[in-house]
Amino acid sequence: MDYKSASQRARVLTESWIPVNALCPACGGAYVKTPNNTKALDFNCKSCARPFELKSSKTRFGKKVVDGAYGSMISAIREDRQPNLILMNYRLPFSVLDLFVLPRRFIVEPMVVARKPLSQHARRAGWVGCNLDLAIIPRSALIPCIVNGTPVPQEKIQRSWSATEVLENVGGAERGWIAVTLGIVDSIGSRFFSLHDVYVYEARASRLFPNNKNVKAKLRQQLQLLRDMGLIEFRGRGSYALVDTLVSN
Ligand SMILES: [Zn+2]
Repeated sequence: MDYKSASQRARVLTESWIPVNALCPACGGAYVKTPNNTKALDFNCKSCARPFELKSSKTRFGKKVVDGAYGSMISAIREDRQPNLILMNYRLPFSVLDLFVLPRRFIVEPMVVARKPLSQHARRAGWVGCNLDLAIIPRSALIPCIVNGTPVPQEKIQRSWSATEVLENVGGAERGWIAVTLGIVDSIGSRFFSLHDVYVYEARASRLFPNNKNVKAKLRQQLQLLRDMGLIEFRGRGSYALVDTLVSN
């Protein structure tokens, strides 16, 4: 089968599935294709107008999601216009196996990794695409809507959405730090953790923010911000706890 026609068919199937079978994770409104339809896979919620972009794949998404051009993704994030991502894993004959939403609040600059430029023999020689590295953000960032073919109740989807919605009020660069700090807390793997547990990941934070020369202080500051936003609790003597809503179930 010719690759192009197969991928076009898949595109028609996946994009027509969304408005009929899924609802906005934020408010339960209907998905509608964007009016000017310049990019076929874009949707808006009819009720809250939030923007979404669909990415679909026949193979399961791992910790890396292949995205488009590196430069456009970085500028979208810097201009705060990156869409929420709908990640669909389907099989043929067409059925949806998994559907997750990655809210735009977690699409931050440190997770955008440039791929190697296309070789000089490629049609778009020199073009640089990117991957989104999901390993650096907390697992609670991904909102399950369908898991192994079983739909998650809409009420639960909206609860997961609200759990970290407060992060939408955080501006650009700071949002990257918050997402990375929450990712570190998630990697610790325990609801209760200490400042020392966070510092163990200092090297990860330094790699993601190479210009910051005082990573420990920055991490401490993020813990304070997370407390002020009601996402973690301070329990005294350098010990912390994630709030109920962020504990993975
Ligand atoms: Zn909505």
